[in-house]
Amino acid sequence: MDKRIFIYANDTKMSKTIEETLRKKLVKSGLRVYEEYSEDTELIICIGGDGTLLRLVQEFNFPKTPIVGINTGHLGFFQEVLPEKIDDFIFFYNQDKYSIQSLNGVTCTIKTASGTHKHLALNEIVVRGLMTHPIHLNISINESFIERFSGDGLCVSTPAGSTAYNYSLGGSIVDPRLNLLQVSPIAPMQNTAYRSFTSSILLPSNDKLTIIPCGEYDKTLSVVYDGLMKDYENVEEMTIQLSRKKINLMRFDDYQFWEKVKSKFL
Ligand code: NAP
Repeated sequence: MDKRIFIYANDTKMSKTIEETLRKKLVKSGLRVYEEYSEDTELIICIGGDGTLLRLVQEFNFPKTPIVGINTGHLGFFQEVLPEKIDDFIFFYNQDKYSIQSLNGVTCTIKTASGTHKHLALNEIVVRGLMTHPIHLNISINESFIERFSGDGLCVSTPAGSTAYNYSLGGSIVDPRLNLLQVSPIAPMQNTAYRSFTSSILLPSNDKLTIIPCGEYDKTLSVVYDGLMKDYENVEEMTIQLSRKKINLMRFDDYQFWEKVKSKFL
């Protein structure tokens, strides 16, 4: 029973209090807690909400190490353990009674006049105009032209991200056992001048979405990956695909995706 554990917590008072209690309990049960994350870490415990888990995943570049979340956030969709269930979690972890839910990320490559840039996200990649400007984008799937999109932007989400911004945009909740990408329009324009899909479209896991700005004014874009934003000028082309990189969330016996959806959304 010599497992190396790393704890990642947000700065709230509640998370810090839970971290302190958790450290004592882990050590008491024979587990080793390390101050730094390293390749041979066997478990990352993330204390906070979904936002904290997203920050952890970005900071450690999609670690392969299993992650378990203790929810001190508002929603806690990724988070598996309630603070009052820490003892149960340690017991089941020590008994190896858990399963792993692997979640793929989504990657985007942005070609601009000055170079190529990449981002990887667990929830979604959002492409939108600066400030409140609508944008016009030529959209292709696997090099085949599909539509000229006009509107605020596009949200390309993974199944893991389907319950986040995608859901607020009217997109569908996707069971993460399905490996696909969902492209949801953000305020699509629909009139005699502009015609865009008004519903989400679903792409199989190997498909590639290509976005080419239509006019000069559409070449300045904001790219938002898991809530982190970067602006790009002179964008020539963007491609978005499901990534091979994945994270591994620890789940316990009573975990069922649709039960979680029911408890968090209905
Ligand atoms: P935030 O503004 O602090 O939190 C956004 C909310 O989204 C939080 O309640 C968070 O849960 C929840 N959330 C994050 N990932 C989720 C998921 N996969 N399923 C269900 N809910 C999820 O921003 P943040 O914490 O940095 O999170 C960034 C995410 O916010 C983005 O990836 C995007 O999906 C989402 N977002 C949503 C909207 C919207 O719904 N209108 C707009 C912008 C961004 P916790 O309370 O547990 O942290």
